[in-house]
Amino acid sequence: MTRIIQGAIARVLLLFMPAIAAVSSPALGQTASQPLSVHWEELTAADFREGIRRSQGTCLLPFGIMEKHGPHLPLGTDLINARYVALHAAEHEYAIVFPEYYFGQIAEARHEPGTISYSRDLQLALLQETTDEMARNGCKKIVIVNGHGGNEMLLPYFAQTQLEKSHDYVVYVFDKRSPDTGGPAKKSSILNWHAGEDETSKTMIARPDTVHLDRAATESGADQHRQNLPDGVYTGIWWYARWPNHYSGEGALATEELGKFQMDWWVNAVVDVIRAVKKDDVSLKLQNEFYEKAKHPLETQP
Ligand SMILES: [Zn+2]
Repeated sequence: MTRIIQGAIARVLLLFMPAIAAVSSPALGQTASQPLSVHWEELTAADFREGIRRSQGTCLLPFGIMEKHGPHLPLGTDLINARYVALHAAEHEYAIVFPEYYFGQIAEARHEPGTISYSRDLQLALLQETTDEMARNGCKKIVIVNGHGGNEMLLPYFAQTQLEKSHDYVVYVFDKRSPDTGGPAKKSSILNWHAGEDETSKTMIARPDTVHLDRAATESGADQHRQNLPDGVYTGIWWYARWPNHYSGEGALATEELGKFQMDWWVNAVVDVIRAVKKDDVSLKLQNEFYEKAKHPLETQP
């Protein structure tokens, strides 16, 4: 390389140096007024820091599953719908949304193609490490937005066992996907618990291209009542006893109108939860008080 060319390169580098330094500076990111993605995986490291500030440490963990959903809905229905809701809610009320998570309880669908059913110990360990890692990165308020009915005991158990040892964050579980009343009248004449009228309608809003309504009546979603036990007796096989096709309801009755009503409700409900969680300055304080007292129970005064 000649000295002249070397000199020219040096001059060009000098000219651009401040710009290069500015672009690569870790301190630089979106300023407070600029829009910021709600997707954890789309943020730069510097923008993530701004996201934590903007969300006041509130992060969403939409929780799905991979399981059969009748003959007509995709395996990832719960993941698709929970993410649709969490992402839309976070755009209304800023929160950072964790990437795809579907490592929950689904032992009862192991007989169907495409089910991903991790072991009990791994489900709990992975969820604990996930929330620990979220908290280490500043998510001190973690809202699990549950999209999967089979998690309905796993998640409260997980949240309850956060009292086992001290954590510097709070786990909130939001596990409601439909309102109790209101909206378009339902047409179903049977229980509508899995891939039925409600869930099919919701998926028609989140990902209509994945819904095969014409196949919805090719299998029965009727309760087969194959177990006869007194009320209050639980067995793990109860779901299979009632719905061996892993289908409960009549998906063919789904409508976009019902889907829109239910998805709007679900998104608004999550917005309300994010706002309430941001305001909640009691739970962490009480947890800390509890952890401290739990170290010496004999000194705890009534
Ligand atoms: Zn589902």
